[in-house]
Amino acid sequence: MIEFDPRNTPDGKDKELDGIIRPQELEDFTGQNELVENLRVYIQAAKMREESLDHTLFHGPPGLGKTTLAHIIANEMGVNMKISSGPVLDRPGDLAGLLTSLEKGDVLFIDEIHRLAPEVEEYLYSAMEDYVIDIMIDKGPGARSVRINLAPFTLVGATTRKGLLTAPLRARFSIDCALEYYDASDLEKIVRRSARILNIPIEDEATTEIALRSRGTPRIANALLRRVRDFAQVMGTGVIDIKITKYALDKLHIDIRGLDAIDNRILDTIINKFNGGPVGANTIATAIGEDTGTFEEVYEPFLIKEGYILRTQRGRIATDKAYEHIGVIKKETENLLF
Ligand code: ADP
Repeated sequence: MIEFDPRNTPDGKDKELDGIIRPQELEDFTGQNELVENLRVYIQAAKMREESLDHTLFHGPPGLGKTTLAHIIANEMGVNMKISSGPVLDRPGDLAGLLTSLEKGDVLFIDEIHRLAPEVEEYLYSAMEDYVIDIMIDKGPGARSVRINLAPFTLVGATTRKGLLTAPLRARFSIDCALEYYDASDLEKIVRRSARILNIPIEDEATTEIALRSRGTPRIANALLRRVRDFAQVMGTGVIDIKITKYALDKLHIDIRGLDAIDNRILDTIINKFNGGPVGANTIATAIGEDTGTFEEVYEPFLIKEGYILRTQRGRIATDKAYEHIGVIKKETENLLF
């Protein structure tokens, strides 16, 4: 079975569409109200002082808008943005090249910043703090270090794993923003906006259904909208109505509560393999083939927020809601078979 994982970053044609629907200004960014209001103040203040915005860290599960906010900051500040990511920037020389190419006020966006190599990260410290880097020239007895001044810039870091950030790096971000899962009404607005931009006819009931089944995540809402549109074009009238939406979401293994195959595997593991818990995060992660940190910071938070899992000292426990949910799924599968 090919598993549809709507958490994945879109590629190909979907990536192109993603660029079109990505909000460009704070005004278009739905939800995260407190964070957005604060950012608006910081941006306006920096502009009034004609300074670069302070270094900013966005953290939270994938698909909630960290990259989008980095783009918006550059846009609202009226500066250019260079983009890189922790695993790509694996040599100090690469970072030095990027840093020296920045002009006054520019944004350097580093995605997955928790994955920076330690020797690269060390270069960032002086760059962030004093806008200088010391580069070693030559090796052996002739080795000397040359100091290079940088233009004042803003580092915007994004991470799904704030717990893996070193303390010195974390301390150098003076703006620290946690992104939260979105509620259904914000997701409805996002689906409606994306459908409008992409010219997709969609009925209100279908908009609500997609919003409710998007795991609190705009990236998933947009991914579902695109996939449901495929079903509507091939099997329906082209208009996304509630019937085709339910049919398509079923085919994509997104269940009635919006949990996907991996969520269900996690609940099934706790309930059926470990008697409902308590069971350690390590054990659950191994059972679903993920590392513990990813389970804790990417998969689990939504299940905790929605009340399917409890986190206790002795491990994770499945709640009554989880039992009921897994029960519902079993019944539905049986019905399909007979
Ligand atoms: P992250 O960097 O946190 O993984 P992204 O910024 O790439 O997430 O967002 C994923 C997609 O969801 C983007 O393409 C963007 O269009 C959409 N999106 C995210 N947040 C919002 C929002 N608040 N309003 C509208 N669309 C959003």
